[in-house]
Amino acid sequence: MLGAVYPAEAAPDAEAEEQGRLLFAAPCHFVAGATTEAAIPPATLPEIAFVGRSNVGKSSLVNALTGQSALARVSKTPGRTRQINFFEFGERLMLVDLPGYGYAAAPKREIARWTGLIARYLKGRASLRRVLLLLDARFGLKDTDTPLLKQLNEAAVSFQAVLTKCDLVDEAELDKRVAALAASLAKHGAAHPVIHMTSAQSGAGIAALRAAVADLAAAKLTR
Ligand code: GDP
Repeated sequence: MLGAVYPAEAAPDAEAEEQGRLLFAAPCHFVAGATTEAAIPPATLPEIAFVGRSNVGKSSLVNALTGQSALARVSKTPGRTRQINFFEFGERLMLVDLPGYGYAAAPKREIARWTGLIARYLKGRASLRRVLLLLDARFGLKDTDTPLLKQLNEAAVSFQAVLTKCDLVDEAELDKRVAALAASLAKHGAAHPVIHMTSAQSGAGIAALRAAVADLAAAKLTR
């Protein structure tokens, strides 16, 4: 059986998982899609942002967490894939879907626009509790993740790795990938040491990730 978090001691208990379930069972609505800094909504709720390379499985993971495919669909609508999408859950959490990056074929202008918008969002967003950095379990960190890692470190935003598509790797490979990732992340001051392992396909790790998000949403704002 695939463990949900590394190190295993960090796994949430049943009560934490129940809190996570309740949070994501709350009514949810789409708040805003921002393509410019001016369109970013006011910081009213604890925020958790999801980010990753295009095709990493972000929509599928959001879908699995929330059970609301409508949300993932919003972020996949042509014209909305390049914006920051904000979704509110039960007046307790703002889930922020940052646009995917790493298209080899993306024009330089587009990459610069993406980098600029993300930088402006990350800078001084007092309500942002954590950025969840999605990484494909088959590959871990790639060179295309480097600019984002740099941005997160520069903005001193706490970020945490979430491996996606864990159903596509066997346990031995996953163990190796997680150990290598933990070693790389240890070099980044803003990286949280706990790594989540998920599969939107099998549902593995979803309850634990919901619990972690609920825990962050409930914690007092310190930043
Ligand atoms: P996004 O571009 O990051 O939003 O990625 P998507 O959620 O659209 O997923 C990209 C591709 O990966 C799709 O073909 C999905 O079916 C597939 N995928 C996503 N999550 C999983 C998973 O947990 N397991 C497997 N096997 N495939 C997945």
